Amino acid sequence: MAGIALSCRCIHPLKSLVIGRLGHLGINLAALKVIQDAPKRTITLDHFKYKSDIGGGRGRDGSLAHCPKCGSNLEYLDADRTFVRCVSTTCSFMFTDGPQLHEHVPEEAKTPTPRMIHEFLNKHVTGQHRAKKVLATQTYNHYTRIKHYQAQKAKSAPVQSYMDCYSMDTQNPLGKLNRPDALLAVSGSPMLNRQSPPPPAQSMTQLQPTVVEDKEEDVMLDKSNILLLGPTGVGKTLLSSKLAECLGVPFAVGDCTTLTSAGYVGEDVEGVLSRLLLNANNDVEKCETGIIFLDEIDKIKVPRYNIGRDVGGEGVQQAFLKTLEGTTTTVSLKNKKNELIQINTRNILFIASGAFIGLDKIIQARVSDKDFGFGARFNKKEDITGADNEEGLDEDSAQLDGILEKVEAVDLMKFGMIPELCGRIPILVSLHSLGVNSLVKILTEPVNAPVRQYKKIFAESGSDIEFEEGALRAVAEMAMEKKTGARGLRAVLDELLLTAMYDVPGSKIVKVTLTEDCVRKGTPVVYTMSDEEEEECLRVNTTA
Ligand code: ADP
Repeated sequence: MAGIALSCRCIHPLKSLVIGRLGHLGINLAALKVIQDAPKRTITLDHFKYKSDIGGGRGRDGSLAHCPKCGSNLEYLDADRTFVRCVSTTCSFMFTDGPQLHEHVPEEAKTPTPRMIHEFLNKHVTGQHRAKKVLATQTYNHYTRIKHYQAQKAKSAPVQSYMDCYSMDTQNPLGKLNRPDALLAVSGSPMLNRQSPPPPAQSMTQLQPTVVEDKEEDVMLDKSNILLLGPTGVGKTLLSSKLAECLGVPFAVGDCTTLTSAGYVGEDVEGVLSRLLLNANNDVEKCETGIIFLDEIDKIKVPRYNIGRDVGGEGVQQAFLKTLEGTTTTVSLKNKKNELIQINTRNILFIASGAFIGLDKIIQARVSDKDFGFGARFNKKEDITGADNEEGLDEDSAQLDGILEKVEAVDLMKFGMIPELCGRIPILVSLHSLGVNSLVKILTEPVNAPVRQYKKIFAESGSDIEFEEGALRAVAEMAMEKKTGARGLRAVLDELLLTAMYDVPGSKIVKVTLTEDCVRKGTPVVYTMSDEEEEECLRVNTTA
């Protein structure tokens, strides 16, 4: 059994397996006892290089029939029939079966280029080109950074001997193991069967890979969390969720309005992490490279007049600091409260968003003080970029957009965000308001556009629906008046098409037309009936 190399991450449901296997090999690692005693640790057995190459007869159905060591019967330890144990109490030999763990080579998933990400976002989100460009570039850099670290880790990870593990345990049993990606590697058969007392303990520093300075490959890439600013319903959440979809990483939304400092009623920061873990199907590794969207971050600003204890403002901001930067946090599984898991947030990308109402005045004050005097510059409409002018925005919104584009961290601090938090979210992107032109495009162009959705709904009932161009523009104008961005579109259309959606199922109506008059003057939608019902159709329209 020479050259056995076993590497594993964590130890929980299968802890006995690992311990049993090592026990079988004559090793009595105190370190492993520590792992066994640590009850709330996640367990993923990574690739076992030590595989069941010692054989094991198989029955007709391909299942293992007897123990390769003593010939007794075998039992599978898990539902996937991967881990096998000999039922003989004297042998209890354990090994792995199943191709997924054998010589498993992780797939090299390629990060899409910024251009590819931008193109993907274009299919789902209308406009917001600057935000798309920034998000695409920053996420590309972020995932390149993760790859960089993974490659560095793989290069510099020392193959630890059994002695390393032993000494590590005696010195600091949890030191190396309290991270979810704690790697325990055992290699070299001569050491494995050693029963003699362990050699002098090796300090933890000796176990770390040596860092050689001043080399290009040792350049540390910083994480860049992102803050999206802009009015409600302009696509901040949509952009972030589609970004995660494009990259194939788990995504979770944390609503900052419900966040409170730990210990108070409400959700705390760990709750958001456990939601991300849940969305990653409880795969810790996946979760650790996911995206967390912190919605309404402006709602946790430090209140100007603080009466009593501040439960939701500065306390929550403080609680975020370590999480945003990168720390190991213990979270509970959403559906199994007593199961605790450790998540490292170092590679989780945080995208915060907020409307920051009132921030424009702070920016305006700063910029006019500094550069222009009395804010004269921002009162001119030509300051608004060309792209925004094409939006068909009203003057107020256009002006607000122009001001928000100049946002800097110092403005956020004045608004009520603590400097430490601003420092941890260095990329600031403002999203522009949606004008009539954009809203019309949103109605028809994105993959999931409302018009396409209605066409599908009506098709299910055996009918077609047509929207006149003028009707779409009128809907966009009505939605703009509501000041809820693109969210208003759905509300307006639902109201207009309520009767049609009620009438069509089970009827002879083959086509519904939403005319401009339906929207502007409130006339009923036009129904077209199947041929034999043509007369009826006319009657419906004239009486309507
Ligand atoms: P918020 O900026 O408040 O986070 P959302 O991203 O949640 O807004 O947008 C709400 C809904 O409005 C989305 O589900 C989407 O249907 C629509 N929407 C908003 N902005 C856009 C956009 N730029 N392109 C396409 N749809 C959009």
